[in-house]
Amino acid sequence: MSAEWQAAAIQGAARVIAENAGLLTELDSAIGDGDHGTNMKRGFDAVAAIADELAALSPGAAAQKLGMTLVSKVGGASGPLYGSFFMALGKALGDAPLDLPRLAAAFDEGVAAVKKRGKSEAGEKTMLDVLAPVAEALREAAQQAPTGQGMVTRWADHLSDVARRGLESTRDMKATKGRAAYLGERSVGHLDPGAQSSFLLIHELTGVYEEFGA
Ligand code: ADP
Ligand code: MG
Repeated sequence: MSAEWQAAAIQGAARVIAENAGLLTELDSAIGDGDHGTNMKRGFDAVAAIADELAALSPGAAAQKLGMTLVSKVGGASGPLYGSFFMALGKALGDAPLDLPRLAAAFDEGVAAVKKRGKSEAGEKTMLDVLAPVAEALREAAQQAPTGQGMVTRWADHLSDVARRGLESTRDMKATKGRAAYLGERSVGHLDPGAQSSFLLIHELTGVYEEFGA
């Protein structure tokens, strides 16, 4: 893991959110209040502004600081949820170098933090429908892949596919958490905006990881 990978990951995350802010807002307009794109862009613009500082930290410390930045800037339901995710993930990573088993365990902590804060589970048409299956796939990868360099590279496409399927699965779900829950049955037929932003982030980060051959 290098500072260059970390810088590319942070900039990539900020870019993909900025480029897709319109899409996120459109999805949130259908089943929420139409602010998910602006919320996320505000948060990730703030993250991009401290990208150099974040890139110089250990992966764990960078994830924690990123989480704190999202909590203070994103707002809405998604700010504290994404913030909790990255803070718990970063705390679990600690200062140790990043490897797949550690990442898998830390990702699990991140998902647990979202569940706790959101009082939610997968299957309720939220970001958890992407994050939870990715956590499971990471755990599986950590068990199967030998330790050492290059291990995530082989799994990057698979993780991105798992995230995409998780996103797609939200279309037919009825929302029972967040603003979309007010719509009840009328939420069916729409993708969840938070699941879309989680997919975008995972797709981008697995792509950067692959590119760096970490
Ligand atoms: P708000 O709903 O306050 O306007 P956003 O629009 O930024 O906030 O974020 C909405 C997204 O947050 C949803 O699409 C969903 O994925 C996620 N979300 C909302 N409530 C919960 C919850 N209780 N648990 C998990 N995710 C949630
Ligand atoms: Mg909203």
